[in-house]
Amino acid sequence: MYKQNHLAAKLAAAADTMPDALFLEDHTTGVRLTHGQLWAKAEQMAAALVRLGLKTGDRVAVQADKSVAMLELYLGVVLAGGVFLPLNTAYVAGELAYFLGDAKPHIFVCDPANLADLRVVADGAGVGHVLTLGAAGGTLVDAQNYESAGFDAVTRSAEDLGAILYTSGTTGRSKGAMLSHGALASNSEVLKNYWRFTADDVLIHALPIYHTHGLFVATNITLMAGASCIFMSKFNAQDVLSAMPRATSMMGVPTFYVRLLGEGGLGRASKNMRLFISGSAPLLSETHDQWRAATGHDILERYGMTETNMNTSNPYDGERRPGTVGFPLPGIQVKICAATTGETLPDGEIGVLEVRGPNVFLGYWQMPEKTAEELRDDGFFITGDLAKIDADGYVHIVGRGKDLIITGGFNVYPKEVEGAIDALPGVVESAVIGVKHADFGEGVVAIVVLEAGANITQSDVLAGLAGQLAKFKQPKRVIFVDALVRNTMGKVQKNLMRAEYVDILS
Ligand code: AMP
Repeated sequence: MYKQNHLAAKLAAAADTMPDALFLEDHTTGVRLTHGQLWAKAEQMAAALVRLGLKTGDRVAVQADKSVAMLELYLGVVLAGGVFLPLNTAYVAGELAYFLGDAKPHIFVCDPANLADLRVVADGAGVGHVLTLGAAGGTLVDAQNYESAGFDAVTRSAEDLGAILYTSGTTGRSKGAMLSHGALASNSEVLKNYWRFTADDVLIHALPIYHTHGLFVATNITLMAGASCIFMSKFNAQDVLSAMPRATSMMGVPTFYVRLLGEGGLGRASKNMRLFISGSAPLLSETHDQWRAATGHDILERYGMTETNMNTSNPYDGERRPGTVGFPLPGIQVKICAATTGETLPDGEIGVLEVRGPNVFLGYWQMPEKTAEELRDDGFFITGDLAKIDADGYVHIVGRGKDLIITGGFNVYPKEVEGAIDALPGVVESAVIGVKHADFGEGVVAIVVLEAGANITQSDVLAGLAGQLAKFKQPKRVIFVDALVRNTMGKVQKNLMRAEYVDILS
């Protein structure tokens, strides 16, 4: 099916041979959709888009709650030769104005409740069509229903642009990562095989679909494998637990696992599961251990990013080593380089992780200078993540380059300090940041979450670290909070914490 359209052909290969196999069961509504039905809907969506004047390479931006219709829109855009551009539902009007102005989509799709407000924003950015999914009155879903089945997929090759995903923008302005048909298809294929997904799999799909994890990892793998998913509009621990006995696998961010550990009955519910995958943010070794104790399963942690999809993964069969993100995936090269010279460092040393492979993006949308800064001529992408490779070849992510603390000329890697603090009795987790310090340039500050009822002071934390860490790595201040600041993907927002505590050592 769709031979002339690289990504659609790869994603629909299973649907071609088994159109009646279940693709999705909506956990809330109980609606079920086969692979064949999904693609038929996608074809109708593609026809509706083309009727609205969509041309090859035009962007379709969407900011909407997670729904099956949004998946149909994604595949419809691919079939129509467009560029799918999902936007985080947390973005507010001012931010959307930037994205729409930057990407200049032909069509913007939003939730009906936001239509009036966002039409103004879209008009301001010169977007021709503003539509919704699912509500009555001139919407895309209505348009879709008028189209008869059958759409000739638009020709697109592996090098052609299939999607733009804006990076989360924790450093400066968000950048639009341009992902080709080939990058998306190859990564999904590698992951499907590496993690052994087959038509027998039932995946718990509770991740958002505006992000690479839920859209390209979870959805594309389910499609390619001819598998099915239990589709949840958002993560809710009770919902996931109730679905688990019917499922085989789950992909989640670390927060999912932490929350699920707080529920009873996990051991019983997970009896039929074969695979739990975690990524998008570091999984604490403690969570890994607690999960094994509760379910008998070792969570498989992998590492990726918007610009590259997935780069490394712990093995399916071999040892899944807590605190590491495993090995480079087949066909993908990873090296650790000196930040200053770009020279490759020996194993064991900490440097900037660079990655090359068919998964790597084409560049940043309309930002040739940024692209040239981060994408080397030889194809290596400078991720900005600090990492090391241990003697057994496992990759350890030590933190983001911008999170590195330089105090009195010495480098402090936050993860090392966080690991030592997290191991203290009574501590749940911590975030270590650098803030301005008159003498040292930056000083180490630890933000710590304690277990309920733990009675620990700054002096206790410092006493606990005294024998373990050099003086310059020890916090100059310890702040106790109820929870760390996280974004929707579970990533700790150190930039926000740095801003909040900017003057605390002054
Ligand atoms: P995003 O582009 O929003 O997916 O964010 C990508 C970033 O998340 C990476 O550059 C890493 O800093 C971080 N990340 C993703 N997966 C992991 C992981 N398993 N462990 C540590 N950091 C991770």
